Amino acid sequence: MNTGPERDVRPEAVSATPGPLDRRTDPLSGVECVVVPARQGRPNLPDAGCPFCPGGLEAPDGPYSARCIPNRWPAMPDRRCEVVLYTDQHDLAFWQLGHGGALEVVELWARRTRELSRRGDVGYVLIFENRGPEVGATIAHPHGQIYAYPEIPPVPLAEIVDGVLEIPAVDHPNSVSTRGDWSAWIPEAPVWPYELLLAPAGAQRSLDDPGTDLDGLADLLVDVLARLDQFAQGAMPYMLWIHQLPADDRVSGGPPVHVHIAPYLRAPGTARYVAAAELGAGIYFDPVDPASAAGDLRSMAGSTP
Ligand SMILES: [Zn+2]
Ligand SMILES: [Zn+2]
Repeated sequence: MNTGPERDVRPEAVSATPGPLDRRTDPLSGVECVVVPARQGRPNLPDAGCPFCPGGLEAPDGPYSARCIPNRWPAMPDRRCEVVLYTDQHDLAFWQLGHGGALEVVELWARRTRELSRRGDVGYVLIFENRGPEVGATIAHPHGQIYAYPEIPPVPLAEIVDGVLEIPAVDHPNSVSTRGDWSAWIPEAPVWPYELLLAPAGAQRSLDDPGTDLDGLADLLVDVLARLDQFAQGAMPYMLWIHQLPADDRVSGGPPVHVHIAPYLRAPGTARYVAAAELGAGIYFDPVDPASAAGDLRSMAGSTP
């Protein structure tokens, strides 16, 4: 790279051009890894203002509503990585988008699912968000990401082959909230004490399924993410991902579209660390009874239905 003074070398003004997809499988564990040295140069924190704010690097044209842009530091080549900007407002939590703003995001997720799924080289669309520096989000501006994988990755594939997704009744002790067709609950064996699953009552395969209640999902996300912040007494760091079934007939069966939310705290101000025995054994230890965690979240105000 030319680093002469005539060039703009602010780290956030450059981007990575990844080489061919370098997929490897560990012969001992069977774990898959993609090696992407080009990402090592990505900036941890932008030093020239927020790139997602109106007028910033990624939004030079000014104010905007929810939109998708290519990821400047893609983990995979061939336009497989996108950034979803939820809003042009820097300081909003997802739940502060309200119903209308959240619905814009959910509809954008559905549209990109449809458009990416049509590509012959895309076998699986994963929508996700890392919220907070504790889980590696380098930019505070509300945003998520989309990865379009060549094939169904191991985690959703295992759910499709062997997984059972049962929505508890609204009066079940693990149930947290419902909106429209959608329910949210704490799973019976969570890795993260305040982990949530969100799913619709029907068998909709993806967000793009015409039968999927996107209004209900938008409302429920606003509600449960408000509850998590209320519980954390501040911004709850979390990881969120959406599992969907591929658009075509390559798989039959499998769970309906659903959302996983993995909150990073096990109490206000207290992190939940995944520890050596858990990684070493593959058995997790949950310090909060799931029914008790659900009760904690139910006791929060949430959002008004
Ligand atoms: Zn911003
Ligand atoms: Zn899942």
